[in-house]
This record gives sequence, C-alpha cells and structure tokens, in this order.
Amino acid sequence: MFIDEVNISVKAGDGGNGLVAFRREKFIPRGGPAGGDGGHGGNIIIVADMQLTTLIDFRYKRDYKAARGGDGGSNNCTGKDGADLMLKVPVGTQVIDADSNELLADMIEDGEKATIAHGGRGGRGNAKFATSTRQTPRFAENGEPGEAFNLRLELKLIADVGLVGFPNVGKSTLIAQVSAAKPKIADYPFTTLTPNLGVVRLEEGHSFVMADIPGLIEGAHEGAGLGDRFLRHVERNRLLLHIIDVSGFTDRDPTSDFDVINDELRQYSNHLANLPQVVALNKIDISGAREKADEISKSLEDRGYKCFLISAATGEGVKPLIYHLESKLHELAKSIPEPDEKDKFVRIAPGMKDARAFEISKNEFGEYIVSGKGIERMAAMSYLDTEESVRRFHRKLERLGVIDALREAGVEFGDTVHIGDMEFDYADENSIE
Ligand code: GDP
Ligand code: MG
Repeated sequence: MFIDEVNISVKAGDGGNGLVAFRREKFIPRGGPAGGDGGHGGNIIIVADMQLTTLIDFRYKRDYKAARGGDGGSNNCTGKDGADLMLKVPVGTQVIDADSNELLADMIEDGEKATIAHGGRGGRGNAKFATSTRQTPRFAENGEPGEAFNLRLELKLIADVGLVGFPNVGKSTLIAQVSAAKPKIADYPFTTLTPNLGVVRLEEGHSFVMADIPGLIEGAHEGAGLGDRFLRHVERNRLLLHIIDVSGFTDRDPTSDFDVINDELRQYSNHLANLPQVVALNKIDISGAREKADEISKSLEDRGYKCFLISAATGEGVKPLIYHLESKLHELAKSIPEPDEKDKFVRIAPGMKDARAFEISKNEFGEYIVSGKGIERMAAMSYLDTEESVRRFHRKLERLGVIDALREAGVEFGDTVHIGDMEFDYADENSIE
C-alpha cells in the first residue's frame, strides 16, 4: 500500500449578520422592526471522485474557505446563503482532523459526500426580537462563525495499471518516462512512495497510477520473496500492461515469454489472469526491433490483444499508449455499478467518538454479534452485491477496528457474524474472492 498525504486548512463560511431596520411608510415616522436575518454560511463538503487518483492539487493550494452568508436586508429580507465549497478527493481518501487525529470521514464510494465544516447560522434581524413588550428592538444578532479545521487527507493508493513482463524489458524505464515527460505528463513528488510507482497525469486533469511489479517470474505464485507481496498488490489492479522486449538482444522468444508470464499469472490467480491486458512492445529504437515488433504485434492482435510499439527510453509511441490506458480505465470505471444512494451523507461530527463505538458479543449459537449505532447504520447502508463492494465493506470494518476486535474475540474463518440485520460469514480479506 502506498500512502499519499497532504495537510490543508478549511473554514466554512460565517453566517451573515442580522440587520436592525424599521419599516418606512408614508406618514408613519417609525414603523415596526423590519431587519432581516443573515444568510447561512457555506459548508465545506468533501466529495469522493473516482476520476481522481492523487491528492496532488492540494499540494499547491492549502487554504480553503467557503463563502460567508449575506447580511440581512431591510423589509425583512434574509441575506443570501453562502455557496458551499466542494473539494474533490480520490475515492479511498480519509479525512482526519489534524489536531485531534480523529477520523472525520472515510470517502469510500464514488460520489460520496461529507460535510466536514458546517457554515455558521445567519444572525437574526431585529424583526425576530420584537415582542409585545419590546416593540422596537434596536439590536440584532451577528452571524455564527463557520467551523474551521486543520485537516490531513490520506490516500492509500491502489495502482490502476500493473506492469508485468520479464526482468529488463523496460518496466522501470517506462514508469520513469511517463512520470517525467513534462509538461504533458507531469512529475509527481512522491516522497514516501516506492520508486516502482508512478502517477501518470494527462493534460485534461486525468491521472492514473501505474505500478511496477518486479519479481513476477521468479516463482512468485509460490510465495517466494517479494513477489507474493507485490502480486497481492496487483490483485487490486484494474488493468495490466504487459511489456515485451523486442530488441532481439536476448535469445528468448518474445511471444513465448508473453505466454510464460500469462501462465504465471494464471497459476497465481484467475482474477489477475482475467484482467484486461494491453501489450507494449518495447525498445523499438533498437535497429531491427521495429520489424520484429510488427510481426509479434500482428500475431498478438489476432489473439485479441491491443498492441503498442514503444521505446520507453526515447518516449516514442508512449503517448498513444498512455491515452489508450486512460480511456480503457475510464471504460472500466463506467462498468462498475452506480451506488444506490448517490448523495450518501457520511459525517462523523467532531467529538462524537461514540458514533464509532461498538461491542462484540456471542449469541447462544456461538455466532458473533457486533452492535453499536454507527456501525449498524454503516452496515445497513452498505450493499454487497459485487466483489469490490465486499472488499470495501471489509476495509471499512478494518479501519473501524471491528476486524481486530473480532479476531480478539476468537472469530474463525466461516463463523457467522451479525451487524444489525446484516449477517455474513467471517473471512480474511485475502480469501474474499
Ligand atoms: P525492468 O527490469 O523491466 O524494470 O527494466 P528496466 O527499465 O530496468 O530496463 C532494463 C534495461 O533496458 C535498462 O538498461 C534500460 O536502459 C533498457 N531499456 C529500457 N527501455 C528501453 C528502450 O526503449 N530502448 C532501449 N534501447 N533500452 C531500453
Ligand atoms: Mg525494474
């Protein structure tokens, strides 16, 4: 797991001030109180957006303020509400109060919204303070200040595109190439990430994460060394980019290399082997390589693989490949079912830690019962029709500490667990298929 992290400050809009004013009518020197209320301040709302994969934009702008509410007007006119400020973050971002380290929201679903800082209420105008004994109140209320927080946004990156291929085919070179070719494809200042990962940014603001998976071929499916850990990581990929070396410098046959890698993938996991695969025939800058590439490309395209001829070293042919990957990812994203409730509202008010509290007990059948208001609500709002949604649910439970607590309580694979009306069999995340 790779972690991307930024700190920002947010301030919701203050409420507008209430007004002191009196009705003005002909021949009536002083009418009744008619000062309007202030408008509501804008909220700071964080929105999860599947199109985003990094928090990079927050590195350039750190302070966010929503609009203030308008002041009240005469003739009982209420001030305008301040506009909400929507901050888009990638799906998978956690929003943390940087001062208390409290988790405020977990942006799991595409389109999910969380109101992190509430705008202040508008102050009441003097008209609201009139009573039978106080008919001409000469005071009004100021707007309530908007909430302000220092936030830490954390994104645990899951690579969209996994690179597979024999050692030395040029995987690292390609990552370096696509994360460095400015200005079309910008560099990304990952300080905490492994060098085998690159964020590819396209001109239109789209970006995706590409990760090198070294060690695939060295008996990785048997769990040898690093390979296994990396393979588990690729399990989350949506697309594989298979790189083939067509330089002719090795005595290996590129087409059979291709099949060897795919056999390896299949032995490790069907899921992985069944991911869409795009092929890049690399090192076409070397003399004679292009002819060989044409030949291999023809035979692989006959087998249904989209092929690109590239030189990771010089950058030739890389751009069309990147754009193809992007549009393919886009297509795949669309095929993920839409959430039922689009504007789902997930907010854990600061200080309301209890919302996350839960208890684990056992019933007379030895089944585990997880109870707690927040957790039951979360379970009720989760729909578990796809593998991905089950994984997401599992991750949520993990973050809330439910999984650890269940383990501590002695849960075993296959045991029944109840959360509110939901019932499921316990499984490790890695065994969810
Ligand atoms: P990896 O093991 O798949 O990550 O491969 P590397 O990116 O480390 O590349 C292995 C070697 O091939 C390095 O010496 C690279 O400089 C070289 N290489 C990679 N891509 C190209 C290319 O497009 N053209 C040429 N001529 N050499 C390349
Ligand atoms: Mg490498």
